[in-house]
Amino acid sequence: MEPTVIIAYKFGDIQAEEEVLQAINATVLRVENLDTPDVLKRVTQADALMVALQRVSAELIATMERCRIISRIGTGFDTIDIDAATQHGIWVTNVPDYAVDEVSTHAIALLLAHARSLPFLIESTRKGGWDHKTVVPIRRLQGQTLGLIGFGRIGKMVAMKARGLGLEVIVYDPYLAPESFESADTQIVDWETLLGTSDFISLHVPLTEATHYIINARAFSLMKSTAVLINTARGGLVDENALLQAVRADQIAGAALDVLSVEPPPLEHPLLTEDRVLITPHSAWYSEESMLDMCMRGAEEVVRAMRGEKPRCPVNQIKHDSSV
Ligand code: NAD
Repeated sequence: MEPTVIIAYKFGDIQAEEEVLQAINATVLRVENLDTPDVLKRVTQADALMVALQRVSAELIATMERCRIISRIGTGFDTIDIDAATQHGIWVTNVPDYAVDEVSTHAIALLLAHARSLPFLIESTRKGGWDHKTVVPIRRLQGQTLGLIGFGRIGKMVAMKARGLGLEVIVYDPYLAPESFESADTQIVDWETLLGTSDFISLHVPLTEATHYIINARAFSLMKSTAVLINTARGGLVDENALLQAVRADQIAGAALDVLSVEPPPLEHPLLTEDRVLITPHSAWYSEESMLDMCMRGAEEVVRAMRGEKPRCPVNQIKHDSSV
C-alpha cells in the first residue's frame, strides 16, 4: 500500500518534496495546520508527518496509528514531544546543516555592517548627507580579533570567512576534542580571555539550560568598551536587559542580532530603537538554496524511514528494521 505523507508547512510549492517522495510512491497531502478535525483524522492514518514549527504534542502522537517518522524541516525540535514519539516507535529527525553558509555569511555581514557603520551611512546619505566624519572613529578591520563562542558547523565557517577578511580568530568551546582545532590559525582560549580580548564576539552555540543567558551582565563587564556582540544563534543566549544597559553605559560599542528572546519583538522593545544595535528578523538561515535543501533533506529522511533504514539525522533512537 502506498504510504501517505502529510506536509504541514508552507514555504512555497512542494514540488521538490514530491519528487523525492516519488521514490516510495507516496501520496502527499499538504495541510494548513494540525488542529482541524478533518486534518487530525488524516494524521491518524498518515505514515509520515513533515512539520516546521507546528506543535506535535504527546496527545497528537498518541492518535497516530501508522506513523513511522516525524520529519522536522529545520533545526530546533522543542515543538515535538520526543519522548512520546520514541515511546510510539516513531523516528523524529531534523535538518541541522541546511544553512551553514547562509548563517555564517549573515554573521559576517552583521559584523561588517557594524564595523563600517553601514546602516547609519546609508540612511544619512539618503537624507542628503555626504560626510564620513559622522561615523568617526572607524578602525581598520584587518588585525582585529573575532571571538567565537561555539565552534561547530557554523562557527567553523565563520572562522574561515573571517580569516579571509584579515581578522584574528579565537575560540571558546569546551566540548570539542583538541583535534577539531586542527587549523593552526585557530587559538582556543578560556572564557575570560575570549570576552576580554575580542573586538567582535559571535555566538554559535545551541540554546540549552547551560547556555541560557551565557551573555549576561557579568560577561558584558569583562568585554572591551569597543567590543561588538553578534548573535545569529538564539535570542535566549543573551540577557537583553543587560545588553541594553551595557550599550547605554558604553560598556560595549554595540550589537548586531538576528535573533531575540521573543520573536517577533513587541514594537516597543527598547533594543529596536538603539542606534548601535542592528537587528534582522531571524533571516540568517534564508536563501532559496537553503530552503530547498531543508525541504529535500527532510523528505529524504521520510524515504529512509519508510524503507526501514536509519535516518541521517535522528534526534531520538528507534530500533530500525531493515527488513521492512
Ligand atoms: P553545532 O551543533 O554544529 O555547533 C554548536 C557548537 O556549540 C558545538 O561545537 C558545541 O560543542 C558548542 N557548545 C555547546 N555548548 C557550549 C557552551 N556552553 N560553550 C561553548 N560552546 C558550546 O551547531 P551549528 O550548526 O554550528 O549551529 C549553531 C546554532 O546556530 C544553532 O544551535 C542554532 O541555534 C543557530 N542557528 C540559527 C539560524 C538562524 O537563522 N539565525 C539558523 C540555523 C542555526
